[in-house]
Parts: sequence; C-alpha cells; structure tokens
Amino acid sequence: MPVRPEIDAIAPKMREWRHTLHANPETAYEERETSAFVAGLLEQWGIEVHRGLAVTGVVGTLRSGSSPRSIGLRADMDALDLEENNTFAHRSRNPGKMHACGHDGHCAMLLGAAYHLAKTGNFDGTIHFVFQPAEENEAGARRMVQEGLFDGFPMDAIYGMHNFPIIAEGDIVVRPGPMMASADFFEIVVKGRGAHGAWPHTGIDAIAIASEMVLAFNHIAARTIDPLQSTVISVTKFNAGHTTNVIPEIVTIAGTTRTFSLEVRDAVEARMQRVCEGIAAAHGAEVSFKYDRRYPPTLNHPEETEIAAAVAERVVGKARVLRNEPPVMGAEDFAWMLLEKPGTYVWIGNGPEHQGGCMLHNPGYDFNDRILPIGATYWVELAESVLSKHASEGVASS
Ligand SMILES: [Zn+2]
Ligand SMILES: [Zn+2]
Repeated sequence: MPVRPEIDAIAPKMREWRHTLHANPETAYEERETSAFVAGLLEQWGIEVHRGLAVTGVVGTLRSGSSPRSIGLRADMDALDLEENNTFAHRSRNPGKMHACGHDGHCAMLLGAAYHLAKTGNFDGTIHFVFQPAEENEAGARRMVQEGLFDGFPMDAIYGMHNFPIIAEGDIVVRPGPMMASADFFEIVVKGRGAHGAWPHTGIDAIAIASEMVLAFNHIAARTIDPLQSTVISVTKFNAGHTTNVIPEIVTIAGTTRTFSLEVRDAVEARMQRVCEGIAAAHGAEVSFKYDRRYPPTLNHPEETEIAAAVAERVVGKARVLRNEPPVMGAEDFAWMLLEKPGTYVWIGNGPEHQGGCMLHNPGYDFNDRILPIGATYWVELAESVLSKHASEGVASS
C-alpha cells in the first residue's frame, strides 16, 4: 500500500493528536478545546487560521504558487452524548461525552495532511482545511455555509471523508450520486374530542384517526413513490391516553423520514401533510403538522467522485477502492456543503476486526489508528492532484 513514507513517519504524531482529542471529547458548538487545539497546530505550521465560524469552526488556509484554483478539505470535530465503555488510556475524561463516531480520527488525518502540505508546498493554488463543529444532529455544516464559508473562503470544490466500521481497514468507498439519505423529523398533533370509552359516538376518537394517518404514511412510501427511489417514513412515537375507559382528546405522533433525492423528499413532506389534513378533516378532528427539515441527502458530484476514486486507487490500489457499495439510510451533515459546491464524500474502512467490528455510536467504538496515514495520504494526494503544479504549467503554456 503506497502510503507515503514521509506521512508514515508522522503516524505517531497523528496517533498522539487523535488520542488527545479522544480523551477530551466535546459536543455541538462546545468544541472549544478541540478547536483551540486544531487552530494552535495549524498556526504553528504557518497556516493562516480563521476561528469562530459557526461558533467553534476553524478554517486553515494554505497557499502555494499563483494558481487561482482552490480546494476545501473538511473534517468534523464533535463528539456524542454517550458514556464510553472502553478502558484504554485515551478513554474519555469527560463524563457522558465520547468520540464514538471517529471525528477525533478525522481531525487527526486532516491535521496530518495539513502538516505535510505546509512543509512541502508541493501544489499550486489554495487549500482550505475546514474543521466543522456539530456534525451530529446540530447541522454545523449548514451553519458554516450560512455564516459565509464559501464567500469568505472561495473554493472550486470541497471533499469530505468518514470512517466506516465493517468495511475492511483502509478500503475506500466511492460513489457518485446518493451516498447517504436525507433525515427529516415530523411531529403531528391530532386533536379530537375526549369521551367515555363506552360512549365513543359522543367524542371524536383521536387514536383511531391518528392510526389511519400512520397506515396512510405506509401507503405514501409503498404506493406513491417510485419503488426504485428508496423511501422510509418511520413513526417512532405514538403517545396518547392515560386510562382504559377514557378516549383521549390528544394524540401526538412523531418520527423520521429518509430519502435519496430532493424531489422525493419534497413529495414525502407534501403528501404527509395532505394525508394528515385530509384524514383529520374527514373525521372532524384538528391537526397540526410540523415537518422539520434537518439534513438533505448526501449527493456526490460525478466529476469530483471520479477524481477522488483515481486518487484513492493510487493510495490503496484499485482492488481496495469499492465502487459498488450501496448507499446507507443514515444522514450526514456534509450534505449541506455538497448542495452549494461540487465535491464528494468517501468512506474509509475502519476495519471489521478492529474492536470486534464495533459500529459507530457504540460505547465500545474506537477509531482505528492504523488508517491514519492512509487517510492523510489520500488528502495529500487529492490536494496535490487537484492543484497539480504540472496541470497549471500546462494551462499557462497552452
Ligand atoms: Zn455520527
Ligand atoms: Zn460521524
């Protein structure tokens, strides 16, 4: 595996950074020590640093040569509200917080690449190292975009990477088009009229009405959306009633939807609302429908995906670049950046054997240190390839 020897040589440094971050996990918009740690290192290497974009976000800017081309490389910094089960020396020191999604490793890989690129400057153009807060639940990527990430730090394209357990250590998954799903949340309150359980005709039964809505959601997914367009509508809460002989007045139902396209997502929201209002009206109930659009689907741009695939093949070899893995129904905040800029998001295998193949968000998870130099090499190769000195000389002389 042609991990570069110079990058292999800094693997112990990356491991040290990773363990420091793992031991000190911080969650959404509270990544103060994490972002100070990242910014401090970048500055130490002569990289221009901007702090405080989306509260704790950090952008490091590195220039070389004179080309106007630019690229963004993004890592996420936040941890989860989870109690760690591990007992190794670098386990979390912050009770109830844990790096269980490997963002500690993502930071360490991007820091390794920044260190190397700052030292060698073997590219022509501008690299923005984007360290974003609040990937988990709180849409730190959207906030960075809203607060002017792409205006303040213009870039032609942006690239992301996430580790994935189960996939073999160091394999890289690339995929044009949908990679991860949209994730939206809904909450519906049905208001009927309470009644004695023995005299249902004197009330309006909110439980029966809400039940019809739940069944109708299955109809939307199974009967109104193209079956090739994967769609999930999951009701995960159904709250009503306190006792056996009273028909309650209020029912609250809530849940999540997942889709792989912006059009299907629009259709799901509109049809759910229509169904809820229609069923409520048919039975004389009232309904309030709230649909909270959280994360759009992660849609990789074909051209940048091909660039990433070619780079990955150089780093880990053709056989270890997986192009036919199916997308997953989980969601990813990086999707917001891909709606604004061309780019692509890849998975790097954390290894099935590592920590018993422990899945992300599990209290026994740990990022696999052996993939640090692979990920860092991928970043370096990607930057040097997109901002190739050779290509700009070619353009200039033609
Ligand atoms: Zn996660
Ligand atoms: Zn994650």
